Amino acid sequence: MNRRTFLKRSGLAAFLPLWPRSFFASKTLRRRRPSDADWPSASAWKRLNDEVDGKLIRVEFPLEPCVKDVGSAACQALIPNMKNPYFIGDQPGLTQTLGWVDAWVSKPSVYAVAAENANHIAAAVNFARENDLRLVVKGGGHSYQGTSNAADSLLIWTRHMHDITTRAAFVPQGCQGKEKAQRAVTVGSGAIWMQAYEAVTTKGGAYVQGGGCTTVGVAGLVQSGGFGSFSKHYGTAAANLLEAEVVTADGKIRIANACTNPDLYWALKGGGGGTFGAVSKVTLRVHDLPEFFGAALFTVKASSDEAFRRLLRYFVGFYRENLFNDHWGEQAHISPDNSLGFVMVCQGLSTEEVRKVWQPFLEWVKRSPGAYAIDGEPILGSMPARRWWDAEWRKQDHQNVFDVDSRPGANPNNVWWTGDAGQVSWFIYGYESLWMPASLLEDGSQERLANALFAGSRYEEIELHFNKGIAGAPRDTIEATRDTATNPAVVDAFALAIVGDAGGGYPGVRGHEPDVEAGRKARQKIHSCVNALRTIVPNGGAYVSESNFFQDDWQHAYWGSNHARLASVKRKYDPTGLFFVHNGVGSEEWSADGFVKV
Ligand SMILES: Cc1cc2nc3c(=O)[nH]c(=O)nc-3n(C[C@H](O)[C@H](O)[C@H](O)COP(=O)(O)OP(=O)(O)OC[C@H]3O[C@@H](n4cnc5c(N)ncnc54)[C@H](O)[C@@H]3O)c2cc1C
Repeated sequence: MNRRTFLKRSGLAAFLPLWPRSFFASKTLRRRRPSDADWPSASAWKRLNDEVDGKLIRVEFPLEPCVKDVGSAACQALIPNMKNPYFIGDQPGLTQTLGWVDAWVSKPSVYAVAAENANHIAAAVNFARENDLRLVVKGGGHSYQGTSNAADSLLIWTRHMHDITTRAAFVPQGCQGKEKAQRAVTVGSGAIWMQAYEAVTTKGGAYVQGGGCTTVGVAGLVQSGGFGSFSKHYGTAAANLLEAEVVTADGKIRIANACTNPDLYWALKGGGGGTFGAVSKVTLRVHDLPEFFGAALFTVKASSDEAFRRLLRYFVGFYRENLFNDHWGEQAHISPDNSLGFVMVCQGLSTEEVRKVWQPFLEWVKRSPGAYAIDGEPILGSMPARRWWDAEWRKQDHQNVFDVDSRPGANPNNVWWTGDAGQVSWFIYGYESLWMPASLLEDGSQERLANALFAGSRYEEIELHFNKGIAGAPRDTIEATRDTATNPAVVDAFALAIVGDAGGGYPGVRGHEPDVEAGRKARQKIHSCVNALRTIVPNGGAYVSESNFFQDDWQHAYWGSNHARLASVKRKYDPTGLFFVHNGVGSEEWSADGFVKV
């Protein structure tokens, strides 16, 4: 075989233009740690600091005062802040999740580049590659899987890159003449969704598809796939990506869109964060805002197992007939205490319409007062969509839906949903997800679905996140989501089932350690619960960013038939595996900590 044929057959030809021969000469087998003699010298770090305009910082571990002495004034001052996601997000050495039993514990990097532009990111990428360092990228710091922290690493920290520019007529670079101009918003990769919602919705009266949690990072969510409350109408965040600016492993700042580097663009749409490069900004589609966003919030408790089975069976049919459409998203909770709770949201329905949708369900429940009780008065209604993320409006309307960043001088819009408060500084015991195919809603399958939900709920609470399955969405939304790297199971699913449990505690802080034994027990129960669902969804997919750290066959679960294409994009743009995350594309080639080539 001559060289050209070999290159063609092996697929290497595709990345030769990106990677000169010298890159292949030194193939990293082991990354350096500070304890190694060949760790970069102080003068090498100083050169990097100069290149990044003085933005290199030595990373402290904010919990260190508590590790040393939990009674110290410094520790006592810190603890209240550990419940504030904005405080945590402002620390290069902390993550929103503090760890996962038997999986990982949050660790600070040695150094961080607090990047302010793509050139700073490029300098950090080059430095890490040239010095064989473990590189980490962190935006909002919300990874459950611990993929934005690593001991002995260099961190690219994008927190300060949060510029937001709205555009009336955006055409991706290189797409002139091929694509029509459309409304869009360009967002720095370190922005969190609350900042984007404030600019686009509260101030701009329009809509951008982001995440449900206000403090999740924009770039991290887009690369996850990314679901928000109204994804049943607008699709995933990834499906709304028009263009990204990204620094690849060779240190080049690239544009990725449908016309320029389309393979990289596609991979960034759900192929997983921290894997294909470090994103510096993203441009997302902007939609018209509907007049109303609304909610249905209440819980029904059944008096016996039998009554609960009947309730679930009725709900499955009710869901199919009345809620399986692009108006309704978010969650139903099916609990071991035989309660069915609704935390559902909707778009495009007035209060009257919301009440009309739920009336038959409430009447059905009320017809059997011995079997069912509704906890309190159901909340059913809608409000001006423009005020959904408007903290001031919500306050004036006496809606206590947000917790507030109470640090002196904090931006008044630094708020997070009270429902997300439990996840700030939590330590995960177990967490699994499974896409539930819409075929289970067909007449002949509803009984099986209801039975499996009942069986699973004997172990743990099952959350059905309807907005995280795209079946039932408008055709355009389905097609745009299908054209992403997320497991195609997402477009056939009516919901993502999520089962998880976590506790508090601070790893390393004596007397306040997370409860490992409780965690292991919970993990078993979660697994048994999801296995009950797997009896009707064998070989199902899981959502990369909300899934089991110990996920079996994760390549298939996260990306399905898209994995092979993602692996080839990875080989093209990052052949030496500079970007490593746990269970990320290409991570099989590295030890669990990403330090040693296997
Ligand atoms: C409280 C909470 C609520 C959540 N709610 C939702 C939800 O409603 N919908 C949903 O879909 N998901 C949700 N998630 C999951 C979340 O979307 C993902 O974990 C997401 O990847 C977090 O992004 P981040 O930037 O905040 O986190 P990080 O931990 O900073 O990053 C996550 C991953 O993306 C990588 N990354 C971050 N920035 C960049 C960048 N600029 N370039 C390259 N890689 C980058 C990191 O290396 C890491 O691997 C939630 C998570 C939490 C903790």
